[in-house]
This record gives sequence, C-alpha cells and structure tokens, in this order.
Amino acid sequence: MEIKRGIPVSPGVAIGPAMVLDTEGVRIPQRCIDPHDVEREVQRLRAALREAALQASDNQRIISEKLGVQYGRIFGAHATLIEDPVLVREIEALIRDNHYAAEYAVSRVMNRHAKELQSLQNPLFAARATDLFDIEKSILHVLLGQRRQCLQELDTPVIVLAHDLTPYETAHLDRARVHAFATEAGGRASHTAIMASALDIPAVVGLGEFVTDVSGGDTVIVDGNRGVLIINPDEETLQRYEHVRNRFRDFISQLKELRDLPAETRDGHRVQLLGNIEFPQEASHCLEHGADGVGLYRTEFLYLGRQTDPTEDEHLDAYLTVLRTLGPKQPLVIRTLDLGADKFAPGAETPTVEHNPFLGLRSVRLCLRNLALFKTQIRAILRASAFGDVRIMFPMISTVLELRQCKMILAEVKEDLDDEGVSYNRQLPVGTMIEVPSAAVMAEELAREVDFFSIGTNDLIQYTLAADRTNEAVAALYSASDPAVLRLMRSVIEAARKHGIGVNVCGEMSGDPIYTLLLLGMGLRQLSMTPHLIPEIKKIIRSVSVPEARQVAEEALRLETARDVTSYLREQLRRVLPEAMGDAALR
Ligand code: PEP
Ligand code: MG
Repeated sequence: MEIKRGIPVSPGVAIGPAMVLDTEGVRIPQRCIDPHDVEREVQRLRAALREAALQASDNQRIISEKLGVQYGRIFGAHATLIEDPVLVREIEALIRDNHYAAEYAVSRVMNRHAKELQSLQNPLFAARATDLFDIEKSILHVLLGQRRQCLQELDTPVIVLAHDLTPYETAHLDRARVHAFATEAGGRASHTAIMASALDIPAVVGLGEFVTDVSGGDTVIVDGNRGVLIINPDEETLQRYEHVRNRFRDFISQLKELRDLPAETRDGHRVQLLGNIEFPQEASHCLEHGADGVGLYRTEFLYLGRQTDPTEDEHLDAYLTVLRTLGPKQPLVIRTLDLGADKFAPGAETPTVEHNPFLGLRSVRLCLRNLALFKTQIRAILRASAFGDVRIMFPMISTVLELRQCKMILAEVKEDLDDEGVSYNRQLPVGTMIEVPSAAVMAEELAREVDFFSIGTNDLIQYTLAADRTNEAVAALYSASDPAVLRLMRSVIEAARKHGIGVNVCGEMSGDPIYTLLLLGMGLRQLSMTPHLIPEIKKIIRSVSVPEARQVAEEALRLETARDVTSYLREQLRRVLPEAMGDAALR
C-alpha cells in the first residue's frame, strides 16, 4: 500500500480500478525535409494550424454549452494562441532555416515555451504550461492525421491516474465512467482543477511522482475531500474506507433533510452559514446546500481564460446573476480582485517575474497600482448594491494606510456615480479580510475603519507560519490548529467585539468539522465555506450548546502545539457527533 498526499481540488471519495494514462504524450522524433519542399511544408503547417484553431473554437462552443461560457473561454484562448503571429513565425523559421518537418518544428517551439514557464517555479505559470502542451498535442494530432483520443470512449468505470491532464482532457471526462482522477502535476489554480470541480468529479492534483508505481487495474482510493491517493490499499484500509464511504453517504443523505432548518445551537444561538463561490453559477450550489447567502465571492475568476480585463458591465452582470439566484438568501459579499501568487493573473497583464510572488505585488496592492482596473470593479459593485444586500470586501490588507487608500478610492467612485445620477446603496457595508499577520496585530485600529472583518485563514496560516499553502513539503507546518494562528484569531475576534463590528471566517478552516466547536466557542456566529460542507457544519452546530463550545475553545487555546490541538478537537467532535468523525478520522 502506498499513500500519497496532494491538493484536493474536487470533493468526494472513490474506490476503483486504476486507468493509467500514457505519461509520455506524443513524442516527435527529429525529422528534416528536402530543402525544395520548404514551401509545401509551410503550407501544410498553416493548414494544420487553421484546422487546430477551428477545433479549439468548436471545443469552446461545446464546453460553453456543457459547462458554461467561462469554461468555454479557455478554449477560445487556445484558438487565439494557435494562430498567434509570433508563435507561427517562430515555427515557420525552423522549417525554412533548419528544414525541420512541421511536426518537429511545432514540438520544439511549444516545448521550449512550456519549459520556460515551468522553470519559473511559479504555480501560475506552470498552470499555463499545461495549456501550451494541450495546444501542442492538438496541432500535432492534426499534422499526424489523428484525432485526439477521448477519455469519453471508456466502457467500464475507472479512476484515471496521469502525470497531468490537460484542460481539454478533463473537460471531456465522462462522469458516468470516470469516478475520480489523480495527477502528479497541477495546482489549485490550474484550469484542470477548475474543470474538475465544475464537473463534480472527485480529484486530487499535485501528488508528485506516483504513476510509475501503479499498473492499470490496480485498486486505488481517491479522497478528494482530503487530497489523498492510496495505491493498492491493504484489506484493513479498504474496509475502513468502504465503511466510511457508506456511512458518510448515509450521513450526507441525512444532512439533506437539514437544508431548511436553521443553524442553531441546542441553546438557541443562531449561526449564519454562508457559501464561498468563484463563479456566478455556484450561487445555486449555495441554495441547494442551505446557505444563508454568499460570504465570499472570489471575483478573480472573472478573469479566467481572457486576454482582456472584464468590463464594468461584465462585472455587474455577474453580480446581478448571483443576486437573482440567491433571492432572499443574502448578503452577497463581493471581494475585490485578489490576483497574483496562487491566483490567476489577467491575460493582458502578466506580472513581471517576482522572486517571492506570495510576498509581491498581488491582490489589493496590484489594484492600488492599477486604479482603472480597481475603479471599474468598484463601480460595478456599487451599482449592484442598488439591487440587494451587497457588501464589499478588500483582500490582503496589510496596513491601516492601505485600507484607507481603498476606502478613498471607494469614496471617489461614489462621487462619480453621484455626478452621473447612478443609484447605489450609500450605506454599502465595507469589510476587510484579515489574512496577513500584520492586519491581525492591528485589528483594533482596522476595526475602526470597517463594518466587518473576514478572517482568511488560508493565507493567515501561511503567512503566520511562513509555510507556503501550496507546497506539500511544508504541509505538516501549515495547520489551522497552530496555537499562533488561534491566538491571532482570538485577538481579531476580540477587537471586532469591542468595536461592535461583524466578524467571520472564510478560509477552509470554517468548513472543517473538527474546528466547528472551537470557532463557535471563540465567539464566531458567521462562517463562510465551500457550499457542500454547510450541511455537516450545520449538523454539528445543532448538536452542541454555546457553553459547551466555549469550554472546548478555552481548553484548546491553552494547548501549546498544533498536534495537541488537533487531537483534542478530534476527541471533542467524536464526543458530540461520532458520525461526523467518519470523515474527519481519515484526515
Ligand atoms: C483565505 O486566504 O483564507 C481566503 C479565503 O482567501 P483565498 O483562499 O481566496 O486566498
Ligand atoms: Mg486569501
């Protein structure tokens, strides 16, 4: 048995036979042509590029119909890149000057660009390299007279294992046959990860090398909730996972019955459970899982697969779609652009290479340097506020001054709208994320400036412990249970209470059952999480009382190591709701 840990990108557990994809892709040997045939070869290349671009446009249409236009756009971008004049010139030069065959020239150029991106050691660029390989494969298949073999032609259920899946391959997975997939490469922000979650196929990426250790037909377990791949599980693990999967399945069906019940503790304290979304369409997932609204709309995904920034009307359209879908289930907390580091960069404005992108010109820092971009979004948020309970939230704030600058821009945009006679909510609630330790330390001062705090534990953990949230090698350090993180959170909650402003947690911690008692006991009455996690958290809240939760929090905050905190919280969860441990026990 081998256990590998990676990045969970789409939830669910699957057990089944492995199907290992060829890891070598299409290998093209060096081949040269007769110098007299150069013109013919160039024409052959051009025809192939046209055909590949047409296929990409077809894919854009098909995927737009199947999953939505924002996913289709990825292939629209492929179509544009295939006929990019610079790229075409480079390939043609290899045919004319070196007399390379078209296949070899394409392979050389695309590989060189992809490798350059990969060598930058930046997950953002590495994700784009996968798109280049995808494009290379489609051009080569046209040149070689082949069609891409689709994984949709499978006739038995499998779990797909591969070095990497391109966005094209992922988008074409047959949900009825492919029960899950796991890949060696890939990150949270890759197009492949986003496709997986849209398709609702359990998936784990970024597992590191494992493909050579598996043979087709071997039994594997993919745990898309926890980011675990188990190869050839021993009998005991298999039984445990089967048992847990079945029990958890029953538990999930029971949870459905909770959808319309409030998240209320046994002693009558109401907790607001909100959803985190990336795409407008996900607002309906929030309703299906009984969310009270949207606590975090990550708007950077509006930039996915585009060459130009979204317009004000495109922003507005997305926000109004969410509001319409939510109906009375509001608020809708819109976070301004959080681009950079682990997030997408706008196509037109890829940042210059930074040695430490997580500490670089990202998020609100980028917006404050690009006021046109920032103001466009703020105008749209304000305009949307005329139609519902919209709230604005600034990410990655690290100083009081930075927050004041954001508020100043907001005030300027309000004035512009007043001059134009455009209506908006004059009392638009303003919030800041607390996800940088400096902001947590300055919470008292920040609390005077805003209407609410949202604690972004995903980043707060990484910056507090200096442990990259995407780096498996330091995953053991990266823990929400760490006393340093908990103490920072405690002071932020206290500052919010003292100044009478709202506070919630919107990092992954809020959807993890082992932390529910602790968060409740620390005084939180609003949590925002991936929508499918809401029912389980609601069940836990309905099983406990506030004094009980307070006692757990007090005890947990006395402990000195993350390990002690985690095992104490597990014990407490087992005590109040043993069924929930079915899942938590596998962590
Ligand atoms: C966070 O950092 O906790 C958060 C919610 O933001 P994101 O995961 O989008 O960085
Ligand atoms: Mg964050």
